[in-house]
Amino acid sequence: MDELKEFAAACHYAAQRHAAQRRKGAAGEPYVNHVIEVADRVARSRHGPDRLLVLGALLHDIVEDTAGTGAEIAARFGDDVAALVMEVTDDKSLPKAERKRLQVEHAPHMSEHDRRIKLADKASNLMALAESPPADWDDARRAAYVDWAQEVVAGCRGVDAALEAAFDAAVAQARAALAG
Ligand code: ZN
Repeated sequence: MDELKEFAAACHYAAQRHAAQRRKGAAGEPYVNHVIEVADRVARSRHGPDRLLVLGALLHDIVEDTAGTGAEIAARFGDDVAALVMEVTDDKSLPKAERKRLQVEHAPHMSEHDRRIKLADKASNLMALAESPPADWDDARRAAYVDWAQEVVAGCRGVDAALEAAFDAAVAQARAALAG
């Protein structure tokens, strides 16, 4: 399939799968805004856009947060995209604290593309936290999220200086929003 056609198909599929979801922040943006932002961030990384990286970013929350499955992604976009998505998907059968711990432990062992997606994902989440935090998160909870994101990203460093700089800028914004 032509790459642009495939890209459009992935946008459409992500929009359908995430259609009923909103981000946690007070602004309640459509969830699909987040995955499109992550795709844009990785496309502007030092590595630059390639098919696997951009499709993986667009679809990175499908299995974790929707009824979509790895098999469905494999059927539509191939085994390579599905494998990339599965590697950044938490095991939802585990308690939340354990999932968060495993993200930190798992990060250094992920593929370079998965580490790029993780860097962009955490930067997107921190910018959302700075600009539109969830109404029921107090400062301590927000600060704990920033600390945890930094722990996960510590294991993703060394693959893409541009994405790391963007992540560090997001950390600074999130911390500044707390101080204010
Ligand atoms: Zn995400």
